[in-house]
Amino acid sequence: MSRFLLIGPPGAGKGTQASLLADAYGIPAISTGDIFRANVKAETELGLLAKSFMDKGEYVPDSVTNDLVRDRLSHEDAQRGFLLDGYPRTRDQVLKLDDILHASNQKLDAVVLLTADTDELVKRLLNRAQEQNRADDTEEVIRHRQHLYLEQTQPLIEIYSSRDMVIEIDGLGQVSEVTERILNALTKLGLSPAN
Ligand code: AMP
Repeated sequence: MSRFLLIGPPGAGKGTQASLLADAYGIPAISTGDIFRANVKAETELGLLAKSFMDKGEYVPDSVTNDLVRDRLSHEDAQRGFLLDGYPRTRDQVLKLDDILHASNQKLDAVVLLTADTDELVKRLLNRAQEQNRADDTEEVIRHRQHLYLEQTQPLIEIYSSRDMVIEIDGLGQVSEVTERILNALTKLGLSPAN
């Protein structure tokens, strides 16, 4: 039974690492970004609301995001553990996640922090936007997402560090190298993968 968080700046490769890690541990990777994107695609009410924030690089309001996660974590597959990718991102979300876990007698095992230089990431994301013709990924939006990360999400590391839960991993390098680093660090903590 493993419960992990994956935190890192936009573009650091969280999504890719999340699915690889989730496979290794036999737990679901739960990405709030993916859930929002699926709702945008399906044109649900939640999707319409989320889109108005996502398009500007803003965070979706905490009340909406917290309810979504509360519901998702109550599903059967999350009772055997989970990896949360991209949540929590604000102090309020940390507190709500604490409540949700406390209410079901669960606790987190580790917080994986993927580090990468945000200026370097902006460069990479701009290149990607150009190559893939993603007109919605403007420089302004990309920079704003990095700014929000530094302003609102990076401070959360301190909260989890004070609980002695953070493992810091250099996010630069080949995908497989980064996965190795994470698996090695988790294994050292006695959190070995199941598969
Ligand atoms: P991501 O794919 O994780 O970068 O998320 C894409 C977008 O979804 C973000 O830029 C936010 O607009 C929104 N989003 C995802 N997760 C959260 C969260 N925990 N809190 C608020 N907004 C979020």
